[in-house]
Amino acid sequence: MSTLSAEEKYRNFIPDESREYLEKLFADFKRTVTIEVYTAEGEHREYNEFTLNICRAFNVMSDKIKLHEYAMDSEMGKKRDIIATPTVLISPEEYDIRFLGAPAGEEGRALVESLNLASKGAEGISDSTKEILEPLEENRLIKIFASPTCPYCPGQAINAFKAAIARPDKISAWNVSTLDNENMAREYNVGSVPHTDINETVTFTGLEPEEKFMLQLLFLKPLEDVIEEQKAAKKNEAKASDTVYEDVDLVIIGGGPAGMSAGIYAKRSGLSCIILEKQGVGGQVALTPKVENYPGFTNIQGFELVEILGSHAREYTEIHQFAEVSDVKYGPRIEITTEEKVYRAKGVLLATGVNVRMLGVPGEDKFYGHGVSYCATCDGNFYKGGKAIIVGGGNTALTDALHLKHLGIETTIVHRGDKFRAEKVLQDSVNREGIEIIWNSQVTEIIGEDQVESARIINKDGTETIKDTDVVFVAIGHTANTELAEKLGVELRNDGFIQVDPTQRTSVERVYAAGDVTGGVRQIITATGQGAAAALTAFDDFTRLFEDTAQTEKNIW
Ligand code: NAP
Repeated sequence: MSTLSAEEKYRNFIPDESREYLEKLFADFKRTVTIEVYTAEGEHREYNEFTLNICRAFNVMSDKIKLHEYAMDSEMGKKRDIIATPTVLISPEEYDIRFLGAPAGEEGRALVESLNLASKGAEGISDSTKEILEPLEENRLIKIFASPTCPYCPGQAINAFKAAIARPDKISAWNVSTLDNENMAREYNVGSVPHTDINETVTFTGLEPEEKFMLQLLFLKPLEDVIEEQKAAKKNEAKASDTVYEDVDLVIIGGGPAGMSAGIYAKRSGLSCIILEKQGVGGQVALTPKVENYPGFTNIQGFELVEILGSHAREYTEIHQFAEVSDVKYGPRIEITTEEKVYRAKGVLLATGVNVRMLGVPGEDKFYGHGVSYCATCDGNFYKGGKAIIVGGGNTALTDALHLKHLGIETTIVHRGDKFRAEKVLQDSVNREGIEIIWNSQVTEIIGEDQVESARIINKDGTETIKDTDVVFVAIGHTANTELAEKLGVELRNDGFIQVDPTQRTSVERVYAAGDVTGGVRQIITATGQGAAAALTAFDDFTRLFEDTAQTEKNIW
């Protein structure tokens, strides 16, 4: 007979390895957080039970978490406008942060982070988010559609929670689980998660850097449109004034880990420098759900690591975000042009990173987010019981194929070669699972009327097949962002990445490159190391050029 008290039973609901971490996290809470859970008899029974158990467990684990349980149709339920069960509200007297549906898996991570943020209040929100949202005058209701297996979803939900904490008078943030709110997901035409809806006016697919998210929330339109409008306004202003120049030792293009680390090292060496980033800082890391291999951090969310790196870099150097470089000209002084000004630099560091590689076939753009996806773990759930094609032959393609197969999806891998480059252990699993493989073939078109119906596949021998499918997952690696490198005449490798020597010099004097754009193992730790090395090499070169040859010095300056 079990002798466990109710308290112990709830505590045991959390796995041992997470319990210790959570207890420590909750113990550090500065303020008490209230959780209200709304359930209903008979409806969504398993989801309701799960939600009650997890919230009860948090309640018994910390006296800083107060739990209240209500029926959905209670007076309180009506007061709080509860529309689905289960619903969880976080500190509802202060904020409108709610979870519609059971916060399981990755959504559980979002729940924990919402408690953590609520315990910190405005103190836990960055100055830049507060500044961006300060002028907001109208109300915003953000709905983040998420799923328990989507590693990118908590990041986007956390963006929304931060906004709701920064401006509780105007902003509501809801995390909607697509698993137990299928009708709502259909109503909002959700085909890929995270799917963000703001005021039923604008929608975005995918995880976005925090500042981009906040700007879109403020302007209620895609950032690209805002930037275009600002560019037009600036052009008109520019007509009336002369070009503004700024002299600087080193211009760093790219605000990912390589660029930020280079900024720290350049400034510490005594160089003047500036970081120009066309979006928000962080690069690929900002979009990485979990980082477990950056020394010093056993497990940290990508955007958190970016915040730490960013605030460290800002101690030393200016970072201009949303400052796209439109042109570069090589000369004694390298000219780097942005909308705002032209920088004249002794040297330039290219830390421009990579982008997901697209297939570039008809139908890919049209069905993006609704039958074409670049994240099988995020969107696989939508195609349960259906058919999927996955394109690629690397570790991502095979890992994704196994994930889809386990969801009960009839999965086919289409690979352009006759062997995979993925690890042998993954190849063995794919064979064991009996996943269909179409070798030596390319998807050349994604076909459908309102939704994906099939894909055109052409074999090396010229034969063509139309294969029925509900979705095409693209997993064909990344491409290096080398447009500016090419303008500067920098030599590229055969695989399209920038060729560098061990000190991060490129083939062009005073042009350096670091991070993912140089290929190789493409890890955060190597990117930061390369950024540091590039800055020190630049310092070395600039000093040498001054000291060794008066002639060179004259030529350059
Ligand atoms: P990847 O290793 O670069 O593989 C890309 C695959 O896509 C290759 O099979 C390539 O074919 C194919 N491909 C490239 N361009 C194509 C095109 N235009 N059309 C059709 N196919 C094309 O990329 P990844 O799989 O995303 O992996 C990236 C990195 O992450 C790797 O270092 C990988 O080890 C790591 N990763 C590891 C794991 C894991 O450990 N479980 C999981 C995911 C990713 P070819 O082979 O013919 O060139």
